[in-house]
Amino acid sequence: MEMTWADGHKSVLPHEVLRGYCPCAHCQGHGGTISFVPGGDLELREIEQVGTYALTLTWGDGHSSGIYTYEYLRALCHCPACLPETQFPLPKEGETT
Ligand SMILES: [Zn+2]
Ligand SMILES: [Zn+2]
Repeated sequence: MEMTWADGHKSVLPHEVLRGYCPCAHCQGHGGTISFVPGGDLELREIEQVGTYALTLTWGDGHSSGIYTYEYLRALCHCPACLPETQFPLPKEGETT
């Protein structure tokens, strides 16, 4: 998925990143830290706006409890400019265990 921001920045948000870093309590527990959770259906079925500050994403397996604030989505950006500094990298090949 791609998003263009008011400042013209064009974000690249791979589905794998969005799903893996789903911020809901079911995926992330209550530890307060966000970590990559592999698995789940990566087909994005629906995007819904929550107020003016966030989006919810509904995945192919019906999972939709993650609320992605725009601030969070911006931090998840994997465009060539943001990727080297991202705090939310995809696990490298072979590191998925
Ligand atoms: Zn989730
Ligand atoms: Zn970016």
